[in-house]
Amino acid sequence: MTETARSSRRAVIMGLGSLGAMGLAGCAVGTRSGAPPLPPVRLQMSRVARITVCLRPFRAAGPRLEVETVGDKRVVHNYGHGGSGWSLAWGSSSIAAGLALEGGVREVAVIGCGALGLTSALLLRRAGARVTIYAKERLPQTRSARATGTWSPDSRIAAADSVAPTFPVQWEEMARTSYATYQSYIGLPGEPVAMSERYVLADNTGQTPQLAPEPAAAAEEVRFASFGQHLAGLTPPYRTLMTNENPFPVAYARVGTSMQFNIAALGQRLTDDFLREGGQIVDMTFDTPADLARLREPVVVNCTGYGARALWRDESVVPVRGQIAWLRPQPEVRYGLFYRHVLMLPHPEGIVVQETGRNDMYGYGNADEAPDRREAESAIDTLAPLYR
Ligand SMILES: Cc1cc2nc3c(=O)[nH]c(=O)nc-3n(C[C@H](O)[C@H](O)[C@H](O)COP(=O)(O)OP(=O)(O)OC[C@H]3O[C@@H](n4cnc5c(N)ncnc54)[C@H](O)[C@@H]3O)c2cc1C
Repeated sequence: MTETARSSRRAVIMGLGSLGAMGLAGCAVGTRSGAPPLPPVRLQMSRVARITVCLRPFRAAGPRLEVETVGDKRVVHNYGHGGSGWSLAWGSSSIAAGLALEGGVREVAVIGCGALGLTSALLLRRAGARVTIYAKERLPQTRSARATGTWSPDSRIAAADSVAPTFPVQWEEMARTSYATYQSYIGLPGEPVAMSERYVLADNTGQTPQLAPEPAAAAEEVRFASFGQHLAGLTPPYRTLMTNENPFPVAYARVGTSMQFNIAALGQRLTDDFLREGGQIVDMTFDTPADLARLREPVVVNCTGYGARALWRDESVVPVRGQIAWLRPQPEVRYGLFYRHVLMLPHPEGIVVQETGRNDMYGYGNADEAPDRREAESAIDTLAPLYR
């Protein structure tokens, strides 16, 4: 696969449209002349408020959505959503909630208070069940709080050669259900979900971007599944900018809009809704599945994300490390961009700057959650020339 094709796929899975049509032969190098000015992002390390690291819970077979009996409990698993947990949450949790309520069950425990736990709990509560979330951490301490916050429904969701034949259809149902549900969060106070303008930039179509050396892959290359084509027409198409419309000093730019999750506001909203609607949250840590015996509920929905690897001894959950440098907020910046594998996305709580690596193996097998300041510096340095 060429570098351009790889960039194209990475841009697509991050909700950034395709680079595929960027190579307009004869296009001159873009200049800012004639383009409406965009507020510049202030890209300095001194503006980095925090660096967060998160582990994507990747499973080659895709998320675990199945029922298991443990002692006298029926356990519905809902974990392993890779880099797509927020994007697929409502759809995946609808399936899990349906399995949990089979047989007329009215009382359900949910383990986990991240994207999957909160959406499962809300759906169960709204279906009339008595629901308690039991979790070691709540947002903003959970890993879900450290996500980029973009519509990325097939980002490291599975390996192409390991999914069941039925998975693409199930995935599409999850993605469409989630997308539709998130529409109702657009425009709410605090903007939990928004549609934002995104620019995908390239110096030229054949170029190999200059990146910091990538760490050696910890495992054999995975052929990540790609299902974007199943959602054709769901999201608005991107368009290539003419030179005089391109506000950036690069040869090629595409622009479009994509959904973004402002996770501080979204997490707060989901938590508040759940509690206001009669749900309960209890701090509890489970060391082994046998600890479920402590719960009074006959049915448990297991939304422990990467935590399922230890709790369930499920080594099919592989960590894929990802790091974000959070620059101090700039409310005037309302657009995101992707350039040389670095993503920038503004949220009310801060501006995400994230190295995404040359391909989806970036961070694969790496469970180190310590911040890497050099990676943050390199990502900021990559974007800074766009504003000179
Ligand atoms: C850098 C990065 C960027 C990302 N960006 C995006 C994005 O833009 N869009 C997107 O859709 N996805 C994104 N993701 C993926 C997304 O963050 C995950 O898929 C999602 O957060 C998983 O949610 P979860 O609820 O399954 O797990 P978590 O958020 O990890 O929640 C697990 C819950 O279970 C609890 N728990 C775990 N173990 C135990 C235990 N033993 N006892 C009690 N409680 C326990 C935890 O305390 C927590 O409450 C990103 C991931 C990374 C790493």
